[in-house]
Amino acid sequence: RNGKPPRFNPFVQEDNFTRVIFVGSGKGGVGKSTITANLAASLAILGKKVGLIDADIFGYSIPGQFGITENPTKVDELILPPIAFDVRVMSIGFFVRDNQPIGWRGPMLHRAIEQFLTDVYWGDLDYLLVDLPPGTGDVAISLGQLIPKAQSIVITTPQAAAATVAQRSGAIGLQTGQQILGVIENMAYLETQGQKLEIFGSGGGAAVASRLSELSGSEVRVIATLPISPELRIGADAGIPLVVSSPENEISQRILKVAEQL
Ligand code: ADP
Repeated sequence: RNGKPPRFNPFVQEDNFTRVIFVGSGKGGVGKSTITANLAASLAILGKKVGLIDADIFGYSIPGQFGITENPTKVDELILPPIAFDVRVMSIGFFVRDNQPIGWRGPMLHRAIEQFLTDVYWGDLDYLLVDLPPGTGDVAISLGQLIPKAQSIVITTPQAAAATVAQRSGAIGLQTGQQILGVIENMAYLETQGQKLEIFGSGGGAAVASRLSELSGSEVRVIATLPISPELRIGADAGIPLVVSSPENEISQRILKVAEQL
């Protein structure tokens, strides 16, 4: 050995038992990153070893949601991911200065994503969550090829417009062979004065689940329904996931339950 670790993708090795879970959505702004951050923190709370890749290259938000201000350090050829709330985090945001826009094309995106898998010291992980960019673009396809054994979760709002594109995002995952673990419907309602207001309509989650069941030939369920919640948003803005700051909160409980069943 010359001291340099070999460069290879640990997640495709036969003796690697890390569960890799992609979290995708059709549209942006449906809460995919917020839910991914809370799921990752939940798994860590449950005692699992967790990594999180923020692959939402153009809309990365995970460093902010975890309050990470330090940059990754390098040892030999490997990048050490910052750790927050016991989650090892890697994001394109760590490599962008002063919020400069990213104008990368497919091949560069592919290379960046590949590096997140091969050049980062992840250690032994029980779970690697990946916050995908919205839609059915290059990154989702690259990742599907790089980690064929990955499973996925699809996030949608109840709105028909969001659900239709979410189905397509799930369908791309199916094409690269992913098992779909379930659908999470976010922003399902706002509870106020004892009433549930369905601000974004209803039925999106069930529609996505039934369409993906049809396409995959096995039952895909709605595994959680989450309301519009100022607490969830405030946690994301403050850099502390809600499941960490208020694990007893009802929404935290629902997210923790999903994590338990993963
Ligand atoms: P995406 O990753 O799908 O683009 P984000 O997770 O960035 O979406 O969420 C978009 C915005 O909505 C963020 O400001 C986030 O804090 C907020 N948000 C997400 N889920 C909820 C929710 N259930 N209630 C209130 N605000 C939410």
